[in-house]
Amino acid sequence: MKIGLVSFHTCPMADLGGKDAGGMNVYLLNLAAKLDSLGHTVYVFTRSHQHSEDSDIPLGVRSKLVHINAGPAESPKEELINLVFEFSRNIQIYMENVDLFFDILHSHYWLSGLVGDLLSKSWQIPHVITFHTLAKTKLRALTVGDEHTSRSASEYKLMCSSDKVLVLTQKEAQDINQLYGSFGNKISVVPPGVDLEMFYQSDKNLAKDKLSIPQGSNTILFVGRIDPIKGLDVLVKALSMISLVEESETILYIVGGNDDDNEYYQSIKSLVAEMGLDDKVIFTGSIPHDALALYYSAADVFVLPSHYESLGFVVIEAMACGTPVVASRVGGIPSVVEHGSTGYLIPWRCPEAFASQIEVLLKNKDLHRFMSKEAMKKAYSLSWDASSEKAANLYSKVISGWINTQAI
Ligand code: UDP
Repeated sequence: MKIGLVSFHTCPMADLGGKDAGGMNVYLLNLAAKLDSLGHTVYVFTRSHQHSEDSDIPLGVRSKLVHINAGPAESPKEELINLVFEFSRNIQIYMENVDLFFDILHSHYWLSGLVGDLLSKSWQIPHVITFHTLAKTKLRALTVGDEHTSRSASEYKLMCSSDKVLVLTQKEAQDINQLYGSFGNKISVVPPGVDLEMFYQSDKNLAKDKLSIPQGSNTILFVGRIDPIKGLDVLVKALSMISLVEESETILYIVGGNDDDNEYYQSIKSLVAEMGLDDKVIFTGSIPHDALALYYSAADVFVLPSHYESLGFVVIEAMACGTPVVASRVGGIPSVVEHGSTGYLIPWRCPEAFASQIEVLLKNKDLHRFMSKEAMKKAYSLSWDASSEKAANLYSKVISGWINTQAI
């Protein structure tokens, strides 16, 4: 198959952990590479940006990442809606020049969906969409937000006009049906994978040494974009309540975030200072994806206190490295974290509840060992090979269904 993937607002190669680069970027690169290894040709289209290269970047044997001009390179995300037409038109021109035709388009996030909608109609090919996050689930979790006013209406229209909505978890399917309307038959669940060559358990003491973390200390880890949806304030408050472990130091590593003008990042740093936790919290900034396994392995507990997560790739990565997880019971997290087996799920935005489950794990070595094994078992059941094969099968079905309807 020849497959076009659209990632308009974020470059799959962007540095992860920054404002708009996280799980979706990881998903796209892995999906494209694995589809290529299955023999498909995949072109991933993203917008040219300040750091993009002039030439296309190979992704496997036949596939590539293509940067397409649309508006000024530094255009903010809020402006992108005005560039949908230009971006789509320039993809068309690119495709005319390379003389290639896609069998199917798969767009990612609502802004890309608008592009995929235009192109699929123009090229008369089917369109699959994955939203990754939805305006209504985000607003429900945060109650305030600065989403574009047309976002949820556009999402609804895209659910209606696309040929298939591919979601990563059953919970996302439920959210769509509950918040947007009944799209039952149109939704297919394709769970993602984890790169087990990158994320695997290594010796905890050695990992601590490599990161200069004192042996015997309790290490709590958060990894992610530094965004209000991640609920970091809850984690900082929880840290202030952990007093159990006599004599041994407790350290919280906050990994991610690289922009000084991120107000939320500044507010978390201020909270840490106000609570007198400066010597217990280390802000590392963004860490390259392929260097993260060391942090996951060094950590005793991984914590994700998010208000909402469509999935939470970091949870799977931590589990693949044998680190039990304490996370909010929200969105797709319960599809990966099993309460009492691979970690703990906390139903409230409640620092006390996080603190007490983190303490339980830090105190009980046997329990920790058990959960570490269960966590790895679960993570090892998720592979990108299986995920991309499932996606490819779905594309084939959508294409044949689409051809049949055209024939009527
Ligand atoms: N990540 C990274 N370096 C960082 C912070 C995050 O490589 O400094 C990666 C992390 O390993 C994960 C992704 O960014 O693969 C975040 O995905 P997740 O689904 O957890 O969160 P999202 O960003 O999609 O909300």
